[in-house]
Amino acid sequence: MPDDTPLMQQWRDAKSRHRDALVFFRVGDFYELFNQDAEEGARLLGLTLTSRNNGAAARVPLAGIPVKALDEYLARLVRAGKRVAICEQVEDPAEARGIVRREVVETVTPGTVLHDALLADRRNTFLAAVVKGSGAPASEGSASGRPATDRPAPAEAPWALAALDLSTGEFTVRAVPAGTLADEVGRIEPAELLLPRSLQEDPALAGVASPLEGGPARTVRDDWVFDAELAREELQRRFGVRSLEGFGFRTEGEAGAEPGAPDDRDLVRAGGALVTYVHEIRPGGVAHLEPPRILRPGSAMVLDRMTRRNLELVEPLRAGAGEGGEGTLLAVLDRAATAMGGRLLRRWVLNPLVAPAEIWARQEAVEELVTEQGVRRRLRDALRRVADLERLAGKMGTGRGTPRDLRALARSLAQLPAVAEACGALSAPLLRTLTGELDLLAEVRALLDGALADDPPAALSEGGVIRPGFDEALDELRALRDGAVDFIASLQTRERERTGIASLKVGFNKVFGYYLEVTRANLDRVPDDYVRKQTLANGERYFTPELKEWEEKVFGAEDRMAQLEARLFGEVRERAAGETARLQKTARRVAALDVLAALAEGAEEGGYVRPEVHTGYDLEIEAGRHPVVETMMPREEFIPNDVRLAEDGFIVILTGPNMAGKSTVLRQVGLIQLLAQMGAFVPARRARLPVVDRIFTRVGASDNLARGESTFMVEMHETAAILHGASDRSLVLLDEIGRGTSTYDGVSIAWAVTEHLHEAVGCKTVFATHYHELTQLGDLLPGVVNRNVAVREAGDDIVFLRRLEPGGADRSYGIQVARLAGVPRSVIARAAELLHELEGTHSGGGEGLGRHGALRPRSEAPPDQLTLFTPEHPLLARLRNLALEEMTPLEALNLLSRLRAEARGDREPGAP
Ligand code: ADP
Repeated sequence: MPDDTPLMQQWRDAKSRHRDALVFFRVGDFYELFNQDAEEGARLLGLTLTSRNNGAAARVPLAGIPVKALDEYLARLVRAGKRVAICEQVEDPAEARGIVRREVVETVTPGTVLHDALLADRRNTFLAAVVKGSGAPASEGSASGRPATDRPAPAEAPWALAALDLSTGEFTVRAVPAGTLADEVGRIEPAELLLPRSLQEDPALAGVASPLEGGPARTVRDDWVFDAELAREELQRRFGVRSLEGFGFRTEGEAGAEPGAPDDRDLVRAGGALVTYVHEIRPGGVAHLEPPRILRPGSAMVLDRMTRRNLELVEPLRAGAGEGGEGTLLAVLDRAATAMGGRLLRRWVLNPLVAPAEIWARQEAVEELVTEQGVRRRLRDALRRVADLERLAGKMGTGRGTPRDLRALARSLAQLPAVAEACGALSAPLLRTLTGELDLLAEVRALLDGALADDPPAALSEGGVIRPGFDEALDELRALRDGAVDFIASLQTRERERTGIASLKVGFNKVFGYYLEVTRANLDRVPDDYVRKQTLANGERYFTPELKEWEEKVFGAEDRMAQLEARLFGEVRERAAGETARLQKTARRVAALDVLAALAEGAEEGGYVRPEVHTGYDLEIEAGRHPVVETMMPREEFIPNDVRLAEDGFIVILTGPNMAGKSTVLRQVGLIQLLAQMGAFVPARRARLPVVDRIFTRVGASDNLARGESTFMVEMHETAAILHGASDRSLVLLDEIGRGTSTYDGVSIAWAVTEHLHEAVGCKTVFATHYHELTQLGDLLPGVVNRNVAVREAGDDIVFLRRLEPGGADRSYGIQVARLAGVPRSVIARAAELLHELEGTHSGGGEGLGRHGALRPRSEAPPDQLTLFTPEHPLLARLRNLALEEMTPLEALNLLSRLRAEARGDREPGAP
């Protein structure tokens, strides 16, 4: 573009390096968007599209946003999954020779945003990267390459997944089997997923929700970014180490490594690529990024997408049921006093433990905090005054702490002694670890308290950030300025005396500085040494040489003050930033304390108990309640229920009419189990619970129609996943199977699934179904027991008792429920009539399953044909009564032909 102005050349240069981003190009008080960016910005943000004369003939589309509104526009673009490269003026325009130098100082993407307005307080914003295990064969994980057998797929080489939250600095890497890749990605809930180009179309990623479904934005980088050697060097350079072994990475050929053990090279590749990307995004560096923590498999229970959704852990099942996640387990549990506690709790909910010792340790801590009410109250009081230390640490690490951020840090640090003191007498080992030698960062607090004004302005440029007494030179400048300002103020009295103008005023404005103002009526009395500065509608403003001199003193002092304050503040911030790692460590501990105290608070308020978590098999819940449903009704109205899943009855077939409360009991078992493995108390009178390796759920019709799969197909996919994935240590919760197909298909599939779980898997199972045929399994299989949610019949109506009772439901009460739902009376009456007919022919019991037939139309009398209800076809009677020996062969042949016609349903003219 030879005709380009230097400005446009600069823009083109920035754009060429950020092709996938909108470039916000700083020009004075605006960020300008040019060309295609301007058009896209206009569309997405509703900006006015103008054009700019680009020197020569070409006109360039242009749109701009004021610098002050940056966060708001960024928020909208990032939510729409866009990337924004922020190109700043990196030298002072006043000092620039020629055009001001500009550089992209950061790229804002969904997974790397740091602006307060764009971050949810109580939720992490993770950026994740995924790589395929280097040992994996090329076709591995491909759906088409898998042999079509009914056996579970063979164990697949692990993938590696790295995740970091740039706002807090937390960084983890983990190996993940391909089969659970989508589940693990979903559990991390990343806002952005970084992929090597070669994986873009990989089927293993097909299960990860797309951005349209609320899944992560996807960012693709060339495969070399994920190269093992480069990744290792990048990690070593960024963390200033000469080997990664110190972080726990197993290196190649290490003694004792099991053959085929997960190769940490892949963890390094994922982690290294993530760090490379972060530095691409923020060339200025991120000082607060913690070294990667390796999460070995088996440290948390795998929770697949179905289960997270069906149990409504952090998001309600019904879309649009409230942004705040109301009606979820998290919403009921979240009593955390701090935002970081809120975030940690969300992760505890999504990452239940599987190691009994860790569960017991949390339980013990929660129990002590339940008992020690006074301690808990004092602890929570102190915590409520603690700001988001993790994100403050992030701001320090990226040099973005404002005066108010540092003040908030100082105030929060001031609470730490109270936190430590409140916990001083506690004895649960986990609490002792968290509070023992808690780093109070006392000298950082002293530094900040000494340096910062009590109530500093939001922006450094407003002045008054540094506390009087902190710096002598600054105090002197302030005195100088205040003296000059006082002198100017005293001018008013003296000038009034000198001129005799009683209404004369001394004033100040930003554009014109100090002035003497005289109204029009008094202009004739203005002395000669007054110089006119500004004309107003009804007066004039002047200055005098004396005023000018004092004004220069004020401005000079203010300039120097601003420079000095900026320098001092920068130094203080830098010194505090030097302690970021300590701050992060303390923040993590405080967050964990907060969560434990919140769980204790919830346990007490909700009347929860500590479950006995054991390493055996049986699950027993006495008077259990659904933690979420019970909060939606007045206290005492929720009917508690007992559930037992033990060796002598590990599959419960749960029957009862619709609306009786089957799903509620079913989910309540899952939620109680999950709470227990978080280390929390549970809503029950008493509970003995095993440690399960996974909780599987399949619930009702899914809304996956959007993906183009039929409800039944989705159901079967989900069922298949459970049958392949469950072990005898799993808890399986099935809410109806086979509803998406005909009754006979449905019952058959449900029956076979139950048999398989009983014979081949041995997992604890609750199976809620409206097929009461399944209750026969209770007599046939030793491990299957029947329970029903009781209803009482009152005349033609039913009353829901919500009570679980032994035995199966003998009827499904669908018609009564339909009546309750307001289906017209005539339809109800007809349905009852048909039901009566069907039941009459099914009196044989289970054998009824195999019979096919048709119901009679309402208006017709029974025809002389086969129906489900005719015990014998009339033809049979006629055959039986035939006097064959009296017939001629021709007569016999004619009769045979007539019978055939009748059997075919032909109605030949003249036939009898
Ligand atoms: P089903 O699965 O049998 O159709 P649900 O479990 O969906 O029935 O329960 C229907 C409604 O009944 C729930 O929304 C809840 O309001 C109420 N309910 C269920 N269980 C109980 C209970 N134990 N105590 C009180 N109300 C309950």
